[in-house]
Amino acid sequence: MTDTVHIGDVPFGPSHFTTIAGPCAVESREMALQTALAVQAAGARVLRAGVFKPRSSPRSFQGLGTRALDILHEVKATTGMPVVTELTDVRRLEEVADIADAVQVGARNMHNYALLTELGRTELPVLLKRGLSATVDELLLAAEYVLCEGNERVILCERGIRTFESAYRFTLDVAAVAVLHERTHLPVVVDPSHAAGRRALVLPLSLAAVAVGADGLLVEVHPAPHLALCDGDQALRTDEFAAYQRQVQRLGAFIRGCEAEVDGLVPETELESA
Ligand code: PEP
Ligand code: MN
Repeated sequence: MTDTVHIGDVPFGPSHFTTIAGPCAVESREMALQTALAVQAAGARVLRAGVFKPRSSPRSFQGLGTRALDILHEVKATTGMPVVTELTDVRRLEEVADIADAVQVGARNMHNYALLTELGRTELPVLLKRGLSATVDELLLAAEYVLCEGNERVILCERGIRTFESAYRFTLDVAAVAVLHERTHLPVVVDPSHAAGRRALVLPLSLAAVAVGADGLLVEVHPAPHLALCDGDQALRTDEFAAYQRQVQRLGAFIRGCEAEVDGLVPETELESA
């Protein structure tokens, strides 16, 4: 049986299906707030936004860093949403922990055992993404690094793996979600955005994630994706997010049964008049 792990006061586990949403990176105060308000209105309960971005090229936008943390602090105060952001460097732990309700460990850092060990010594929930080429066993062993230090608040995230297929960015391994649920008590969420690499695939992959039993989704959303400083091609637009959320939550309610709460199930009448 899967345990329930909370981010702020928001539960992830068998009796809830929860959406985490937000921009890949905080680009400005205005866009961060605008995105947060839009995803919140559509029923997402946790905001995810990057502050330190681990980019393949050192010349790509690396995030606004400390300035973005201040912005997130303000957005959190305004919206009341708990916030997740990625920690890429253990030396930034204190600074990030001051603001974040959960820390994302990205795919590129899944094997960063020093980082995982330090997070294990905190009480912060850890959203642990599967490495680009990591097996299910390696993901579970990475989670062990956090758990064995005493921090049991780990949520696993399947975000697609590298295969020979090049028609999309990564291959979403839906089977891994079912296998992880067999092998661990930890909640499992799916990030369809990084697997898809383009907007049109985000909804179908999200529905697959719901159907295979994921406990939630982590989705990238941007008010103007064509202007995004990173991952614009895969970001849902804020103005299409409510319709997306409605489809996901409808399937969630069907799959998980009426005894399970589906967070953010916004009544259709409200969405239609929005
Ligand atoms: C991200 O969440 O923006 C990100 C960089 O993801 P990943 O570590 O899965 O590539
Ligand atoms: Mn991203």
